Amino acid sequence: MKKLILSLLALSVAVAVSAQEKKEYPKPEGMRPAMTEFWTPQPKVVTPGDIKTNSAPSDAIVLFDGKDLSAWKSANGGEADWKVHNGVFTVDKSKGDILTKQSFGSFQLHLEWCVPKNITGSSQGRGNSGVFLQDKYEVQILDNYNNETYANGQAGSIYKQVMPLANAMRKPGEWNVYDIIYNAPIFNEDGTYRVRPTVTVIQNGVLLLNNFVIQGTTEYIGLPRVVPHGDGPIRLQMHGDPSEPISFRNIWLREL
Ligand code: MG
Repeated sequence: MKKLILSLLALSVAVAVSAQEKKEYPKPEGMRPAMTEFWTPQPKVVTPGDIKTNSAPSDAIVLFDGKDLSAWKSANGGEADWKVHNGVFTVDKSKGDILTKQSFGSFQLHLEWCVPKNITGSSQGRGNSGVFLQDKYEVQILDNYNNETYANGQAGSIYKQVMPLANAMRKPGEWNVYDIIYNAPIFNEDGTYRVRPTVTVIQNGVLLLNNFVIQGTTEYIGLPRVVPHGDGPIRLQMHGDPSEPISFRNIWLREL
């Protein structure tokens, strides 16, 4: 009897298994090309700058178009007081830094700069300026064409934090182009970074910094500091070195 029960049990298990094997489930639909294509939303249309006139893209905030410094103010108060001439402006070493009147978060910044053909000086004392992101983090501007300096202080460095991946300098008298992509930080309530700021810098089409994680403020003396902040202006540096002053042109920014 016991034997019979066991064999019946075995039979019923076998029947159940074979029924399970035969049970049909819906099969996933086969992939078709259109299943991985989306049509909405469409990217917004941005008309690029004109290649001949080197103008700004249609959605850019123009910070200098060759006419005046109305988008800028002096760090010492009042209007920006550097000299505009022939579509460019030149650092006035008797005045202070200048800053944009507007503040920004994350952005793409385009900026062109040029040191005089007859520039003199060496190391940090040769065409030194800088562009400060959110008024806190300096991307160095310096004439490093046949001019060595400490590596983490040369053109395209985040000053005293990282050296650029290349020296892509054009000769004095020729225009250098910076394209900077900057992601603003997010802070914790205690003032530490939750998300650190990052920056990509391209000079004359050559990558200098590839999504570098900024450590803090760019100090001349001492280590980077973490200083909580919100949106901030772009600052251009008036450096007190005795070399001939540098010029800027064609500055625009796209907010991200
Ligand atoms: Mg500098």
